[in-house]
Amino acid sequence: MDHDAYIEIAKRNLYGNYRQAPIVFKRGRGVQLEDVRGKRYLDLAAGVAVCSVGHAHPRLVKAISEQAAELMHVSNYFYNDRNIELADRICKTANLARALFCNSGSEANEALLKMARRHFYGRGEGHRKRIIAFHGAFHGRTLGSLSMTGTPPYREGFGVPGDVTHVHYGDIEAVGRELTDDVAAVIVEPILGEGGVLPAPEGFLKRIRELTRERGALMLVDEVQTGVGRLGKWFGSEGIDVDAMSLAKGLGGGFPIGVALAADTLIEALPPGTHGTTYGGNPLASRAALEVLSIIEDENLVAHASELGRFLGDSLDAIAKEFPDKLVAARGQGLLRGLILAEGQVARDWLPRFFEAGVLIIAAGASTLRFCPPLVIDKSELERGLSIVRDVIRRN
Ligand SMILES: *Cc1c(COP(=O)(O)O)cnc(C)c1O
Repeated sequence: MDHDAYIEIAKRNLYGNYRQAPIVFKRGRGVQLEDVRGKRYLDLAAGVAVCSVGHAHPRLVKAISEQAAELMHVSNYFYNDRNIELADRICKTANLARALFCNSGSEANEALLKMARRHFYGRGEGHRKRIIAFHGAFHGRTLGSLSMTGTPPYREGFGVPGDVTHVHYGDIEAVGRELTDDVAAVIVEPILGEGGVLPAPEGFLKRIRELTRERGALMLVDEVQTGVGRLGKWFGSEGIDVDAMSLAKGLGGGFPIGVALAADTLIEALPPGTHGTTYGGNPLASRAALEVLSIIEDENLVAHASELGRFLGDSLDAIAKEFPDKLVAARGQGLLRGLILAEGQVARDWLPRFFEAGVLIIAAGASTLRFCPPLVIDKSELERGLSIVRDVIRRN
Protein backbone atom coordinates (compact mmCIF):
# COMPACT_ATOMS: atom_id res chain seq x y z
CA MET A 1 0.00 0.00 0.00
CA ASP A 2 1.30 3.49 -0.73
CA HIS A 3 1.11 6.67 1.32
CA ASP A 4 -2.09 7.99 -0.24
CA ALA A 5 -3.91 4.69 0.21
CA TYR A 6 -2.91 4.57 3.87
CA ILE A 7 -4.13 8.11 4.44
CA GLU A 8 -7.40 7.40 2.70
CA ILE A 9 -8.13 4.38 4.89
CA ALA A 10 -6.96 6.20 8.02
CA LYS A 11 -9.42 9.01 7.32
CA ARG A 12 -12.16 6.48 6.67
CA ASN A 13 -11.63 3.97 9.50
CA LEU A 14 -9.63 5.53 12.31
CA TYR A 15 -11.60 7.27 14.99
CA GLY A 16 -11.14 11.02 14.65
CA ASN A 17 -10.08 11.85 18.21
CA TYR A 18 -6.52 12.81 17.22
CA ARG A 19 -5.23 15.53 14.98
CA GLN A 20 -2.77 13.29 13.14
CA ALA A 21 -0.19 14.69 10.75
CA PRO A 22 -0.35 13.10 7.27
CA ILE A 23 2.83 11.09 7.81
CA VAL A 24 2.77 7.29 7.99
CA PHE A 25 5.78 5.91 9.84
CA LYS A 26 7.22 2.56 9.05
CA ARG A 27 10.64 2.14 10.63
CA GLY A 28 12.89 3.58 13.31
CA ARG A 29 16.57 3.20 14.19
CA GLY A 30 18.13 5.16 17.03
CA VAL A 31 17.01 8.77 16.57
CA GLN A 32 15.96 8.27 12.92
CA LEU A 33 12.45 7.56 11.69
CA GLU A 34 11.39 6.66 8.18
CA ASP A 35 7.92 6.97 6.67
CA VAL A 36 6.28 4.80 4.01
CA ARG A 37 7.54 7.16 1.29
CA GLY A 38 11.12 6.63 2.43
CA LYS A 39 11.46 10.17 3.83
CA ARG A 40 13.70 10.34 6.89
CA TYR A 41 13.21 12.37 10.03
CA LEU A 42 15.37 13.16 13.03
CA ASP A 43 13.26 12.32 16.05
CA LEU A 44 13.39 15.03 18.73
CA ALA A 45 10.06 13.93 20.21
CA ALA A 46 10.68 10.26 21.06
CA GLY A 47 6.99 9.39 20.77
CA VAL A 48 6.20 11.96 23.52
CA ALA A 49 9.17 11.27 25.80
CA VAL A 50 8.62 7.52 25.52
CA CYS A 51 11.39 6.05 23.35
CA SER A 52 14.08 6.77 25.93
CA VAL A 53 16.66 4.39 24.45
CA GLY A 54 15.81 5.31 20.86
CA HIS A 55 14.11 3.19 18.22
CA ALA A 56 14.97 -0.49 17.84
CA HIS A 57 17.77 -0.50 20.42
CA PRO A 58 19.39 -3.90 19.77
CA ARG A 59 19.36 -4.86 23.46
CA LEU A 60 15.69 -3.94 23.90
CA VAL A 61 14.73 -5.76 20.69
CA LYS A 62 16.59 -8.86 21.87
CA ALA A 63 15.07 -8.77 25.38
CA ILE A 64 11.51 -8.41 24.06
CA SER A 65 12.00 -11.13 21.42
CA GLU A 66 13.48 -13.56 23.92
CA GLN A 67 10.77 -12.88 26.45
CA ALA A 68 8.00 -13.23 23.86
CA ALA A 69 9.37 -16.67 23.06
CA GLU A 70 9.59 -17.54 26.75
CA LEU A 71 6.39 -16.18 28.37
CA MET A 72 4.14 -13.21 27.64
CA HIS A 73 1.26 -13.29 30.05
CA VAL A 74 -0.07 -15.29 32.99
CA SER A 75 -2.47 -12.87 34.78
CA ASN A 76 -2.23 -11.56 38.31
CA TYR A 77 -3.57 -14.77 39.82
CA PHE A 78 0.09 -15.76 39.80
CA TYR A 79 3.53 -14.20 40.14
CA ASN A 80 6.00 -14.13 37.29
CA ASP A 81 9.79 -13.95 37.53
CA ARG A 82 10.33 -10.82 35.43
CA ASN A 83 7.74 -8.81 37.30
CA ILE A 84 9.32 -9.62 40.66
CA GLU A 85 12.76 -8.70 39.31
CA LEU A 86 11.37 -5.39 38.04
CA ALA A 87 9.59 -4.61 41.32
CA ASP A 88 12.85 -5.13 43.19
CA ARG A 89 14.77 -2.94 40.79
CA ILE A 90 12.31 -0.06 40.40
CA CYS A 91 11.60 0.17 44.14
CA LYS A 92 15.34 0.43 44.85
CA THR A 93 15.82 3.03 42.12
CA ALA A 94 12.90 5.20 43.28
CA ASN A 95 13.43 4.52 46.97
CA LEU A 96 9.80 3.51 47.48
CA ALA A 97 8.48 0.32 49.08
CA ARG A 98 5.85 -1.13 46.75
CA ALA A 99 5.05 -1.30 43.06
CA LEU A 100 1.59 -1.69 41.51
CA PHE A 101 1.99 -2.30 37.79
CA CYS A 102 -0.38 -1.24 35.03
CA ASN A 103 -0.18 -0.30 31.33
CA SER A 104 -0.17 3.48 30.98
CA GLY A 105 0.31 6.79 32.72
CA SER A 106 -3.41 7.37 33.15
CA GLU A 107 -3.79 4.04 34.86
CA ALA A 108 -0.83 4.72 37.14
CA ASN A 109 -2.42 8.01 38.22
CA GLU A 110 -5.79 6.31 38.58
CA ALA A 111 -4.09 3.92 41.00
CA LEU A 112 -2.55 6.81 42.96
CA LEU A 113 -5.95 8.46 43.26
CA LYS A 114 -7.64 5.26 44.43
CA MET A 115 -4.77 4.52 46.81
CA ALA A 116 -5.00 7.97 48.39
CA ARG A 117 -8.76 7.88 48.93
CA ARG A 118 -8.87 4.24 50.00
CA HIS A 119 -6.03 4.84 52.46
CA PHE A 120 -8.10 7.31 54.47
CA TYR A 121 -11.28 5.28 54.04
CA GLY A 122 -9.50 2.26 55.50
CA ARG A 123 -8.47 4.30 58.52
CA GLY A 124 -12.03 5.45 59.19
CA GLU A 125 -11.33 8.90 57.73
CA GLY A 126 -13.55 8.58 54.69
CA HIS A 127 -14.28 12.31 54.77
CA ARG A 128 -10.71 12.89 53.56
CA LYS A 129 -11.12 12.43 49.84
CA ARG A 130 -10.57 15.80 48.19
CA ILE A 131 -7.53 16.04 45.94
CA ILE A 132 -5.57 19.20 45.23
CA ALA A 133 -4.22 19.41 41.70
CA PHE A 134 -3.07 22.23 39.40
CA HIS A 135 -4.42 24.24 36.50
CA GLY A 136 -2.60 23.12 33.37
CA ALA A 137 -1.56 19.80 34.93
CA PHE A 138 -1.91 16.67 32.84
CA HIS A 139 -2.56 13.36 34.59
CA GLY A 140 -4.35 11.41 31.87
CA ARG A 141 -7.66 10.87 30.11
CA THR A 142 -9.47 8.17 32.06
CA LEU A 143 -12.22 9.73 34.15
CA GLY A 144 -10.36 9.46 37.45
CA SER A 145 -7.07 10.76 36.11
CA LEU A 146 -9.01 13.34 34.08
CA SER A 147 -10.61 14.60 37.28
CA MET A 148 -7.10 15.70 38.29
CA THR A 149 -6.10 17.00 34.84
CA GLY A 150 -6.42 20.77 34.83
CA THR A 151 -7.20 21.64 31.20
CA PRO A 152 -10.90 22.58 30.70
CA PRO A 153 -11.25 21.49 27.02
CA TYR A 154 -10.08 17.97 27.94
CA ARG A 155 -12.78 17.77 30.62
CA GLU A 156 -15.79 19.37 29.01
CA GLY A 157 -18.86 17.24 28.50
CA PHE A 158 -17.59 14.04 30.11
CA GLY A 159 -19.27 14.23 33.51
CA VAL A 160 -15.87 14.26 35.17
CA PRO A 161 -16.04 13.05 38.80
CA GLY A 162 -15.49 15.68 41.44
CA ASP A 163 -13.74 16.27 44.74
CA VAL A 164 -10.70 17.79 43.04
CA THR A 165 -9.66 21.41 43.55
CA HIS A 166 -7.32 23.00 41.02
CA VAL A 167 -5.01 25.82 42.06
CA HIS A 168 -2.31 27.72 40.16
CA TYR A 169 0.88 25.76 39.58
CA GLY A 170 3.60 27.25 41.72
CA ASP A 171 1.22 29.03 44.10
CA ILE A 172 2.20 27.53 47.45
CA GLU A 173 -0.08 29.92 49.38
CA ALA A 174 -3.08 28.59 47.46
CA VAL A 175 -2.03 25.03 48.27
CA GLY A 176 -1.79 26.01 51.95
CA ARG A 177 -5.24 27.64 51.89
CA GLU A 178 -6.90 24.61 50.31
CA LEU A 179 -5.15 22.01 52.47
CA THR A 180 -7.91 21.53 55.02
CA ASP A 181 -8.72 18.29 56.84
CA ASP A 182 -10.94 16.95 54.04
CA VAL A 183 -7.94 16.69 51.67
CA ALA A 184 -6.52 13.25 50.96
CA ALA A 185 -3.65 14.30 48.72
CA VAL A 186 -1.87 16.85 46.60
CA ILE A 187 -0.79 15.56 43.18
CA VAL A 188 1.94 17.42 41.33
CA GLU A 189 4.20 17.14 38.29
CA PRO A 190 7.82 18.31 38.84
CA ILE A 191 7.49 20.08 35.47
CA LEU A 192 4.17 20.66 33.74
CA GLY A 193 4.82 18.56 30.64
CA GLU A 194 1.72 18.81 28.48
CA GLY A 195 0.98 22.13 30.18
CA GLY A 196 3.85 23.91 28.39
CA VAL A 197 7.10 22.46 29.81
CA LEU A 198 6.82 24.72 32.85
CA PRO A 199 9.21 23.85 35.68
CA ALA A 200 8.01 24.20 39.27
CA PRO A 201 9.41 27.23 41.08
CA GLU A 202 12.45 26.55 43.28
CA GLY A 203 11.41 24.80 46.50
CA PHE A 204 7.78 24.23 45.41
CA LEU A 205 7.82 20.44 45.77
CA LYS A 206 9.65 20.65 49.08
CA ARG A 207 7.05 23.08 50.47
CA ILE A 208 4.22 20.80 49.30
CA ARG A 209 5.89 17.98 51.21
CA GLU A 210 6.15 20.07 54.36
CA LEU A 211 2.56 21.31 54.15
CA THR A 212 1.02 17.90 53.37
CA ARG A 213 2.96 16.34 56.23
CA GLU A 214 1.88 19.10 58.61
CA ARG A 215 -1.81 18.69 57.65
CA GLY A 216 -1.87 14.90 57.47
CA ALA A 217 -2.40 14.69 53.69
CA LEU A 218 -0.45 12.65 51.15
CA MET A 219 1.92 13.91 48.48
CA LEU A 220 1.60 12.20 45.11
CA VAL A 221 4.03 12.99 42.32
CA ASP A 222 3.26 12.36 38.66
CA GLU A 223 6.58 11.51 37.01
CA VAL A 224 5.04 9.87 33.96
CA GLN A 225 6.85 12.33 31.69
CA THR A 226 9.69 13.56 33.93
CA GLY A 227 10.82 10.24 35.44
CA VAL A 228 13.41 7.63 34.45
CA GLY A 229 16.25 9.98 33.53
CA ARG A 230 14.48 12.48 31.30
CA LEU A 231 15.49 15.48 33.43
CA GLY A 232 19.13 14.45 33.78
CA LYS A 233 18.33 12.80 37.09
CA TRP A 234 16.38 9.64 37.78
CA PHE A 235 13.31 11.53 39.02
CA GLY A 236 12.24 15.17 39.18
CA SER A 237 11.23 14.72 42.81
CA GLU A 238 14.59 13.26 43.80
CA GLY A 239 15.47 14.05 47.42
CA ILE A 240 11.84 14.49 48.47
CA ASP A 241 10.11 11.72 50.40
CA VAL A 242 6.85 11.45 48.49
CA ASP A 243 4.08 9.03 49.49
CA ALA A 244 3.58 7.76 45.96
CA MET A 245 4.84 8.27 42.42
CA SER A 246 3.52 7.34 38.99
CA LEU A 247 5.77 6.33 36.11
CA ALA A 248 5.05 5.24 32.53
CA LYS A 249 6.29 6.77 29.24
CA GLY A 250 10.10 6.41 29.35
CA LEU A 251 10.01 3.31 31.56
CA GLY A 252 9.11 0.90 28.77
CA GLY A 253 11.08 2.63 26.02
CA GLY A 254 8.04 2.20 23.74
CA PHE A 255 6.60 -0.93 25.28
CA PRO A 256 3.41 -0.03 27.20
CA ILE A 257 3.86 -0.14 30.96
CA GLY A 258 2.95 2.03 33.92
CA VAL A 259 3.55 1.75 37.62
CA ALA A 260 2.27 3.33 40.81
CA LEU A 261 5.03 3.26 43.41
CA ALA A 262 4.02 3.68 47.03
CA ALA A 263 5.76 4.29 50.33
CA ASP A 264 5.17 2.15 53.42
CA THR A 265 2.45 4.56 54.54
CA LEU A 266 0.22 3.33 51.73
CA ILE A 267 0.82 -0.39 51.65
CA GLU A 268 -2.52 -1.23 53.23
CA ALA A 269 -4.56 1.21 51.17
CA LEU A 270 -5.59 -1.29 48.49
CA PRO A 271 -6.13 -4.70 50.12
CA PRO A 272 -6.61 -7.84 47.98
CA GLY A 273 -9.57 -7.52 45.64
CA THR A 274 -9.87 -3.73 45.73
CA HIS A 275 -7.94 -2.85 42.56
CA GLY A 276 -6.31 -4.55 39.60
CA THR A 277 -5.75 -4.88 35.89
CA THR A 278 -5.46 -7.96 33.69
CA TYR A 279 -2.24 -7.05 31.89
CA GLY A 280 -0.47 -5.13 34.67
CA GLY A 281 2.96 -6.54 35.45
CA ASN A 282 2.98 -9.05 32.60
CA PRO A 283 6.37 -10.68 31.96
CA LEU A 284 6.82 -9.10 28.52
CA ALA A 285 6.31 -5.50 29.67
CA SER A 286 8.35 -6.18 32.80
CA ARG A 287 11.25 -7.57 30.80
CA ALA A 288 11.15 -4.55 28.48
CA ALA A 289 11.31 -2.15 31.44
CA LEU A 290 14.11 -4.15 33.08
CA GLU A 291 16.15 -3.90 29.89
CA VAL A 292 15.44 -0.17 29.53
CA LEU A 293 16.69 0.40 33.10
CA SER A 294 19.81 -1.66 32.40
CA ILE A 295 20.54 0.22 29.18
CA ILE A 296 20.10 3.56 30.96
CA GLU A 297 22.59 2.45 33.60
CA ASP A 298 25.10 0.78 31.30
CA GLU A 299 25.12 3.66 28.81
CA ASN A 300 25.20 6.28 31.56
CA LEU A 301 22.16 7.96 30.07
CA VAL A 302 21.11 9.95 33.15
CA ALA A 303 24.40 11.87 33.25
CA HIS A 304 24.26 12.10 29.45
CA ALA A 305 20.75 13.64 29.61
CA SER A 306 22.00 16.17 32.14
CA GLU A 307 25.02 17.18 30.08
CA LEU A 308 23.32 17.19 26.70
CA GLY A 309 20.27 18.80 28.28
CA ARG A 310 22.39 21.78 29.25
CA PHE A 311 23.62 22.05 25.68
CA LEU A 312 20.04 21.80 24.38
CA GLY A 313 18.86 24.46 26.85
CA ASP A 314 21.70 26.84 25.94
CA SER A 315 21.10 26.33 22.22
CA LEU A 316 17.36 26.99 22.54
CA ASP A 317 18.09 30.10 24.63
CA ALA A 318 20.32 31.36 21.83
CA ILE A 319 17.66 30.65 19.19
CA ALA A 320 15.02 32.44 21.30
CA LYS A 321 17.27 35.50 21.59
CA GLU A 322 18.00 35.49 17.88
CA PHE A 323 14.31 35.62 16.87
CA PRO A 324 12.57 37.79 19.49
CA ASP A 325 9.66 38.54 17.13
CA LYS A 326 8.77 34.84 16.99
CA LEU A 327 10.03 33.43 20.30
CA VAL A 328 9.84 34.51 23.91
CA ALA A 329 12.22 32.17 25.75
CA ALA A 330 13.29 28.60 26.35
CA ARG A 331 12.66 26.64 29.55
CA GLY A 332 12.81 23.14 30.95
CA GLN A 333 15.35 20.75 32.36
CA GLY A 334 17.52 17.94 31.05
CA LEU A 335 16.17 16.57 27.79
CA LEU A 336 12.68 18.00 28.34
CA ARG A 337 12.69 21.52 26.95
CA GLY A 338 10.21 24.03 25.62
CA LEU A 339 10.54 26.94 23.25
CA ILE A 340 7.81 29.47 24.00
CA LEU A 341 6.32 31.20 20.99
CA ALA A 342 5.61 34.90 20.89
CA GLU A 343 2.07 36.16 21.27
CA GLY A 344 -0.09 35.40 18.25
CA GLN A 345 1.99 32.35 17.22
CA VAL A 346 0.33 28.93 17.40
CA ALA A 347 2.52 25.89 18.06
CA ARG A 348 0.30 23.61 15.98
CA ASP A 349 0.82 25.80 12.90
CA TRP A 350 4.58 25.54 13.20
CA LEU A 351 4.85 21.77 13.44
CA PRO A 352 4.28 20.88 9.74
CA ARG A 353 7.17 23.20 8.78
CA PHE A 354 9.54 21.20 10.99
CA PHE A 355 8.18 17.90 9.67
CA GLU A 356 8.69 19.10 6.12
CA ALA A 357 12.30 19.93 6.98
CA GLY A 358 12.80 16.45 8.44
CA VAL A 359 12.72 17.11 12.19
CA LEU A 360 10.07 15.83 14.58
CA ILE A 361 9.12 18.06 17.46
CA ILE A 362 5.75 18.33 19.15
CA ALA A 363 3.67 20.98 20.89
CA ALA A 364 3.04 21.31 24.61
CA GLY A 365 -0.07 23.37 25.09
CA ALA A 366 -1.03 26.04 22.57
CA SER A 367 2.18 28.04 22.38
CA THR A 368 5.17 25.89 23.31
CA LEU A 369 7.35 23.78 21.01
CA ARG A 370 8.49 20.72 22.94
CA PHE A 371 11.85 18.98 22.60
CA CYS A 372 12.14 15.58 24.26
CA PRO A 373 14.53 13.49 22.15
CA PRO A 374 15.56 9.92 22.96
CA LEU A 375 18.08 9.98 25.82
CA VAL A 376 20.57 8.19 23.54
CA ILE A 377 20.84 11.10 21.11
CA ASP A 378 24.44 12.26 20.65
CA LYS A 379 25.71 15.80 20.41
CA SER A 380 26.23 15.85 16.64
CA GLU A 381 22.69 14.55 16.01
CA LEU A 382 21.29 17.17 18.35
CA GLU A 383 23.35 19.88 16.66
CA ARG A 384 22.05 18.79 13.28
CA GLY A 385 18.45 18.88 14.54
CA LEU A 386 18.89 22.28 16.12
CA SER A 387 20.40 23.76 13.00
CA ILE A 388 17.34 22.61 11.01
CA VAL A 389 15.02 24.00 13.71
CA ARG A 390 16.85 27.35 13.62
CA ASP A 391 16.65 27.44 9.85
CA VAL A 392 12.90 26.73 9.84
CA ILE A 393 12.32 29.51 12.37
CA ARG A 394 14.48 31.92 10.38
CA ARG A 395 12.60 31.20 7.15
CA ASN A 396 9.03 31.44 8.51
C1 LIG B 1 1.41 11.32 29.25
C2 LIG B 1 1.12 11.66 30.65
C3 LIG B 1 0.10 11.00 31.37
C4 LIG B 1 -0.83 10.00 30.72
O1 LIG B 1 -0.19 8.88 30.29
P1 LIG B 1 -0.92 7.88 29.24
O2 LIG B 1 0.07 6.77 29.09
O3 LIG B 1 -1.17 8.65 28.01
O4 LIG B 1 -2.17 7.42 29.88
C5 LIG B 1 -0.06 11.31 32.70
N1 LIG B 1 0.72 12.23 33.30
C6 LIG B 1 1.70 12.88 32.65
C7 LIG B 1 2.54 13.87 33.37
C8 LIG B 1 1.92 12.63 31.30
O5 LIG B 1 2.86 13.30 30.64
